Amino acid sequence: MKLITFSHNSNTSTGLWLGDRVLSLPKLVKLAGAAINVDSMLQIIAGGEATLNVIRQLAAEVDTLADACIPASQVTVLSPIPTPLRNIFCVGRNYLDHVKEGYVARGLEVKLPEAPHFFTKATHAMNGPDCAVEIDPRISRRMDYEVELAVIIGKTGKNISRQNAMEHVFGYSICNDVTARDLQKRHEQFFKGKSLDSSFPFGPWIVDAAEIGDPATLELSMFINGEQRQRATVAQLIFDIPTLIESLSAGLTLEAGDILATGTPSGVGFAMDPPQWLADGDVMVCSIDRIGQLRNTVKQVAL
Ligand code: MG
Repeated sequence: MKLITFSHNSNTSTGLWLGDRVLSLPKLVKLAGAAINVDSMLQIIAGGEATLNVIRQLAAEVDTLADACIPASQVTVLSPIPTPLRNIFCVGRNYLDHVKEGYVARGLEVKLPEAPHFFTKATHAMNGPDCAVEIDPRISRRMDYEVELAVIIGKTGKNISRQNAMEHVFGYSICNDVTARDLQKRHEQFFKGKSLDSSFPFGPWIVDAAEIGDPATLELSMFINGEQRQRATVAQLIFDIPTLIESLSAGLTLEAGDILATGTPSGVGFAMDPPQWLADGDVMVCSIDRIGQLRNTVKQVAL
C-alpha cells in the first residue's frame, strides 16, 4: 500500500494512493464504521499491524466505497510525515563507492567506517514531493543532493537486536538528504550543513514493509535535469538496515514514527570533477523501484 498525507479543499488528511485517485482514509473509516485512528500518518503508524490490516481489508472493497475516493488531480500530496516527532536520523558514508569518492575528492587515503556514522537533520528540514528546495547563496554556495532509502520505524524499542530489527520497520520511502557542503566543512560537524529549511524532501508516500519484502533488492537512483548521477542497490550498504537499527537503538529509544535515512551511494555533486553544485531551476528526481519517484525543483530565494 502507498500511504500518503494529502491536502484537499484546504484540509489535510491521510489516504491511499491508487494512481488515478486517492482513497481518503478518514472517509473510508467513517463509511465502513471501523474503529481505527487514521487522523494522521503518525496515528496510523502507532496503530501498527492491526490498523494496517483493517486498512488492507477496507481498501480491497474500494469499489463499493467509491464515495471515499477523490480524483488524484484534485489533491496535493504532502510529505507523508509533515511534522516529524523529532530530528530525522541519518547515516553518513554507508555505501563503499561513496566513501571512496569522498576521500578521493579530498585527496585523502580511503578509510572504511568501523561503525555507522549517525547524525540528524532538524525537523524544519522536512519537505514534500514536488516542493521547492530553497537555496540562498548568502548562506551556502555548495548545495548538493543525496538520494537515500528512508526507513520508517513502526514499533518503539530500545536495544533492538539485528534478529528482531525488521519487526520494528513500518515501511519505506524515498528521501533526498540535501546538504550544504561548505557549512558541513566550516562547522566541522554534519548537523548545520544538513539542517537548512526545506533540505529534506521526503515521500511521496510510505510503502508498508510487507509490500516491499526484502529491501536489499531495491535499486535507487538520482537524476539531475534528466541526467543519471547516482545508482546503486540497497544490498550495497556497508551497514545493512538490521545493523543500523541495532546500533542506533543501543541505549537510545527509537520511537514509532522515527525516520532513518540510510545513506547515499556515489555520484554526489561534490565528488564530480569539477564539482557540480545545485543551481536555481535544477530538477532532482530520486527514484527507488517498488516505491516510486520523488521530484523536487531547486529554487533560489529572491535576493
Ligand atoms: Mg546522506
